Amino acid sequence: AKTDGKSTWRRYQDELHDAMMRRLEMRTALNEAVSGDQMRLRFQPIVDLPTSEVVAMEALVRWEHPVRGLLGPNEFIELSEETGSIVAIGSWVLREALRTFAGWRQTVSGSLLRYVSVNVSARQFRAPGFVDQVRRVLAETGAQPEWLLLEITESLVLHDADQVWQDLRALRAMGVRIAIDDFGTGYSSLSYLSQMPVDVLKIDKSFIDDILDNTQQLALVDTIVSLARTLDLAVVAEGIELDEHRQVLAGMGCPYGQGYLFSKPVTADQIGQWLYAHSY
Ligand code: C2E
Ligand code: CA
Ligand code: CA
Ligand code: CA
Repeated sequence: AKTDGKSTWRRYQDELHDAMMRRLEMRTALNEAVSGDQMRLRFQPIVDLPTSEVVAMEALVRWEHPVRGLLGPNEFIELSEETGSIVAIGSWVLREALRTFAGWRQTVSGSLLRYVSVNVSARQFRAPGFVDQVRRVLAETGAQPEWLLLEITESLVLHDADQVWQDLRALRAMGVRIAIDDFGTGYSSLSYLSQMPVDVLKIDKSFIDDILDNTQQLALVDTIVSLARTLDLAVVAEGIELDEHRQVLAGMGCPYGQGYLFSKPVTADQIGQWLYAHSY
């Protein structure tokens, strides 16, 4: 029993050590991921709910780690926000998403896609010169401002309001639209929401999951959808996995949605092939 206790402690120490080393190694590797050409994009279709027709794409980042393979954002975005490498990653995502989207728009059926949605982390948005960067990347990629929707979080709009709101207004004056991502998970008050310089609400998947068997959750989503209509905001419901979800949401007048029911995130090539198949 004695030796068991010792080995358990030892194992615990080893695990702790391994976890620390892994984090340290990830930090270093992450700093070189963009310059090392290891970032990738996937695109998930956003659809018109009544018809299920594709109207837009959300760009979602992946990290092709040299040893561990393709990593999802949940494995590195938080760390990159901590270390600041999110600024370089975010710049890369913005440019790559707009470059790819501008390419699609030049194809025969490219106008099926109205815009590309790009996630922007708070730290990236607050970094000096973000608005200028957006303007520059639009010019360099030949993308029109109307083709870009920036997804930000509720907390960014709530904190630090003066500078952030000024930048949001500047972006919207340019023609770029703004969405609040994961809406409902933060703490915006209704009166505040009516004043926010935003265009779209994205309802978080956690609300959609339960709408079929939880009437309270259903009522909540219904309230968000009517609220959005009152405030003249578009709504996108995230995480739609079942056709019953789609029907219920379309029934309450939710105009747009995305989720595995329609498509998982796929490569730019797959979207290109899909556009090609729709061109005749
Ligand atoms: P999000 O912006 O809320 O994106 C939706 C996430 O849910 C994506 O995961 C997507 O693949 C997943 N998803 C979509 N439909 C379904 C569904 O029907 N069922 C399920 N179970 N999942 C679904 P992903 O790609 O792993 O991204 C996770 C989060 O990472 C995103 O959540 C976003 O907050 C962040 N992220 C992704 N790309 C970027 C980026 O380029 N920059 C920043 N700052 N954050 C990003
Ligand atoms: Ca998003
Ligand atoms: Ca999110
Ligand atoms: Ca979400």
